Amino acid sequence: MERFSLSLTKKYTPMYNSLTECPQCNLKFKCPDKWCSDCEIKNFKSNFGNWTSRNWKLDKVIRRSQSNAKGPLNYLEWIPLTEFIDVKFIAEGGFGCVESAIWNLGPRWTYEPSSRKWERSGPYNVALKTVNDSHQYLQEFLNEVQAHYICTSEDNHIPHCFGITQNPKSKDYIMVLEYAHYGSLRY
Ligand SMILES: [Zn+2]
Repeated sequence: MERFSLSLTKKYTPMYNSLTECPQCNLKFKCPDKWCSDCEIKNFKSNFGNWTSRNWKLDKVIRRSQSNAKGPLNYLEWIPLTEFIDVKFIAEGGFGCVESAIWNLGPRWTYEPSSRKWERSGPYNVALKTVNDSHQYLQEFLNEVQAHYICTSEDNHIPHCFGITQNPKSKDYIMVLEYAHYGSLRY
């Protein structure tokens, strides 16, 4: 089975060549990575009712990112904390703390030719960056998330943000980040 995954450095690996049209709309793929923005965005929108962070402002930011997703690394998602296992403390900073964890389902960034869909990678190592008091200062947190999101699309050295989760006890929000560059989270 031939698979095609995006590497952490966001550089595309060689294409799976036989598929040139989106299996959903039957139109030619507009970009070489087999991501049909029109269909993927339509699918995101039809799934809006199936998840919520229980905060409409945060939902709005996540929905906006999904409504503009230009690729499998170009949107945020709400990820319940129960999807993470093996959580280990890494570092503490003025903002809060960073932990490593395994995200059971993993990012949806593998194009699977047999199902002709973008599928989740399976267990994947991530860094969880807890931002203290982010539930009280939600707007500041959302500004940080959006600034981070804009930066990562321009700079490969900033760890990619897959989405947001929340500590159910403290209510603090947590950014789910690419683990590889966790060292740079210490600012
Ligand atoms: Zn399509």
